[in-house]
Parts: sequence; structure tokens; C-alpha cells
Amino acid sequence: MSGRRGIVYLVGAGPGDPGLITVRGQALLQSADVVVYDRLIGRELLAQAKPNAELIDAGKRPGFQRLTQEHTNALLIDRARRGLFVVRLKGGDPFVFGRGYEELAACRESGVDCVVVPGVTSAIAGPAAAGIPVTTRGAARSFAVVTAEVASSDIAPPDYAAFAGVDTLVILMGRAGLRGAVDQLIAAGRDPSTPSACIERATTREQRVERATLATIADAVERAGLAAPMITVVGDVAGLPDVSCGVASRGLPARRDGIPPAAQEEGLAGKRIAVTRPRSAGRELQRRLLAAGAIPISLPMIRIASIEDACELDEAIGRLADYQWIVFNSIHAVRAFRKRLEALAKDARCLAGCRVAAIGCTTAKELARLGLRADVLPKRHTAAELARAIRDSGLAQGSRVLVPRGDLGGADICRELRSAGAIVEDTIAYRTEDATPSHPVLEEVRRGVDAILFFSPSAVRRFAALAVPVGDAVIGCVGPATASAVADAGLPVGFTAEQHSAAGVFEALEKHFALTGAQT
Ligand code: SAH
Repeated sequence: MSGRRGIVYLVGAGPGDPGLITVRGQALLQSADVVVYDRLIGRELLAQAKPNAELIDAGKRPGFQRLTQEHTNALLIDRARRGLFVVRLKGGDPFVFGRGYEELAACRESGVDCVVVPGVTSAIAGPAAAGIPVTTRGAARSFAVVTAEVASSDIAPPDYAAFAGVDTLVILMGRAGLRGAVDQLIAAGRDPSTPSACIERATTREQRVERATLATIADAVERAGLAAPMITVVGDVAGLPDVSCGVASRGLPARRDGIPPAAQEEGLAGKRIAVTRPRSAGRELQRRLLAAGAIPISLPMIRIASIEDACELDEAIGRLADYQWIVFNSIHAVRAFRKRLEALAKDARCLAGCRVAAIGCTTAKELARLGLRADVLPKRHTAAELARAIRDSGLAQGSRVLVPRGDLGGADICRELRSAGAIVEDTIAYRTEDATPSHPVLEEVRRGVDAILFFSPSAVRRFAALAVPVGDAVIGCVGPATASAVADAGLPVGFTAEQHSAAGVFEALEKHFALTGAQT
């Protein structure tokens, strides 16, 4: 047992779209030691867990029976008592028909710390994704959420008569019991002509919506073959004209009935995008993808590691006054350099006599955190451009240039600078190691992705060595060196960014799907 005190977070995962988990929920998920999840949790979310996190499906156990509630409670308590950081990931909001309170109570009774992180409930977000507001001026000023669960004997069926005065009735877990619920509602006095809608897999790419009246909705659902998970909305709001254009933060555009899904694809919304960068370097891109309604899947192929022996780099830092230029070709080089500066109790002043060159905006941004502004930042992120830009800004013959670089990259820059007449000293500042994606991540990619993005030749080589299936995915590259590694691996290059940066790749990706979208 570790000395650490364990804790359980009951986290609402949101209704299905992985972009609809809360910021706090996502941060917890990404650092949990153990993730206990329900049947309805999207794989994309699980793929965000740490590669070595223990993932437990509470809907299944060896022998394929569902874990009973008692088992689940015992499991959470057991892991927390072992000092582990547990995320109990539950669909929607943990307290809306999720038995979340029972889990909270069980933890607390056992003396285990348990914290609730609310989520976006499907009861409200599901109708919203179909363009149906649960309340709106003129049509509904109250709503109720009920369950029509029929399987469980310990839940009494709702007293529909009690809801006669409620404007909007949202029925969860109601696929099997839909017909019964409708009959009881009508028997309780609800007008059979009340507009009604059923939404299957709300907020996901597979979302389907059926609209009818209360009297005809069960037949309509039957005909269309809608299956669980499904939400039913009964009330005038279900008959409002469909003016929907998407849920929160430009998420998925709502499917309009009768139009094939492919024709409704809008830009990056709902597109599954695998990002092969180390997670720490891929955050900005992930943020942009999420904001565009895409589903980023973190598939790091490489990991950045510190060097074991920093003597050479430390020694170079000790005599920075000898160099006229220092060249940073990646964010990792800046980070490694900063780490050594800190370790040596130095700061940016020791670079006072050096001019600074950088490749890439992210590298420049990282330099800014050190209080440094790059003197040279070429528009195109290639070694040749960098050498030209440095030459143009005044590189005297015999100038001494320091290039702190990764063990696998940067040789081309040194070569270019040498042929421009510089005396180049390159020192290894960090190592690039192979990363192995976790099982759920690979499973996610096997299910199919729309694009795979590469940012370095080393990530491409690792990808090829692991024989990760590409399927129909388009392959996007940050620049020409990465693109030629893709071609060398025998894979088709879909596009190469004009701007060799995360922002450039994002732009190229958007352009690619705008073009292919327009062709459908
Ligand atoms: N705690 C969850 C609800 C759990 S009960 C929440 O707050 O959303 C499970 C029921 O929720 C399902 O049977 C279905 O009725 C509904 N549900 C959850 N996610 C859904 C989705 N994406 N689309 C349609 N219904 C969903």
C-alpha cells in the first residue's frame, strides 16, 4: 500500500460528444490511476486516460455479467484504499439516474474521500442537440425528467398523472418501455396530439431523431429502428420549427431528419482526428480541434525524455559568451535548455551576448516564457530557410553557433549553417523515445479515424513500426521532412501544411475537409 491517500472523483462525462465533458472532469480523467466507466462512455474519452491507467468497465466483468452496484462500490473503495486516484466516469451527470449518490454514500461510509464533478446531462443536452429547448418562452416554462426503466423491479414506474401539468416531459431509459409510457401518459390525460420526439445517441455522430405525435411516436421509432440509448421528449417544444445549428461551442450540427448524414457533415465537426505528437506538445492543437467540434484522439508515437548526462550542455551554457548565435529548432530544445539554466541557477541574462534564432511559432512562444525574443524566425520552417534567414541577418564567417538539439533531429540545420561558413557546435539537449499507445487508444484508432496528423519523421517511423492501421484516414504532415518520411513508409500523403506549425496543420486540415465536404 502506498502512503498516499486515495480519492474517488465521481465525474460526469457529458452526454456523448467528448467535447461536452467539463474542463475539470477532463483534467481529472487525464491524470487518474484508475478509471471505472459505464457502458455509455465514449471510447474517445477513455483514450484520454494515462497509458498506464487501469481501465475498468463497470458494465462488464469476466464472464460478461454486469458488475453489480455493490461490486462497483466495493471496487471504488478498494482502489482508493490502495492510495490510488480513482475517476468514476458516469454518463451525463452522475446524479441523474446514475446511482451516483449511492456510490458517493458508500465511499463516505467507508471513510473514503469522494468528490462529485457534475456533468452535462443528456436529459437537457440530448433534446438541445436535436434543436429542442426543454423550456422556451411561450411553449414551456417547466420540465420534468423521468425514467421509464422497465427492467429493474426496484424502480416503480412513474406516476404519469402527477406530470399532467408539466409542459415538457423528458423520458430517459425509455426505449423498451416507450409504448407503455405513451399509453400511460395518454391514459393520464396527456393530449395524444402532443408533439413528441425521440433522439438516439444524442450529440454523437450517430445521432438520429424521429418526430411524431404522442399517439404515433412509438410506431415512428419502431419503423425507423431507433435503439437505446434514446431520449424521448413530449411537449410543445418538440413541435417547434427546427432552427438548430448545433449544440454548445459549435459542437455537432444537428442531423436534419431525412437528409443523409454525409451530406450534413460540416467542416471538422464530428471528425475523428488522431494526433501523433507527444501529449504535452499537442495541447494547443487539441484545443483548436475541440473548439471546431472535432474529436481529437491523442496517439503519441514519441515521448520527449531528458538526457541522463547533461555535462556537455551545461558546459556550453557555462560559456555562452563564446557564441554569436544560439539556434532552437523545437519547443523541446527550449524546454530542455531552460531546465538546465534553472538547474545551474542561471537565467536568460547569460544569453545577453547571443543572437537567437528559432524555428516555429511554438518554439518562439516558449522562448518568450524565458523573456527572450527570437532575432530570427523564418516564415518557412525548414533548415535551409533558417540558415538563409540567419545569413541575411548577418552571419560573419567563422561565427560560433550553438545548436542544442534532440538526439534525432537538427543535423540538417547544423549542415546548412556549416556550409554558410559558421562554426557549429551541436549538443544533445533531449532524447526522443518511442511511445507505445495504450490498448484503448489503439482500439479507438482501429474503429476508424478521419485524419492522422504527423509532426516529425520520428513519429512517422514509430507509427510504421507499430503497423497502426490507417484505414481511410487522410494523412496530414507538418512539413516536407515529415511528408517524405510518410512517403518512405509507403503511406499516402494527404496534405502538407504550408505553415509548418500546429496552427498551419490545423488550417490545412480544415481546408482539406472543406474541399472533400464540398465534393459530397
Ligand atoms: N446520468 C445520465 C443518465 C443515465 S440513465 C445523464 O445525466 O445523462 C441512461 C439513459 O440516459 C439512457 O437510457 C438514455 O435514455 C439516456 N441517454 C444518455 N446518453 C444519451 C445519449 N447520448 N443519447 C440518448 N440518450 C441518452
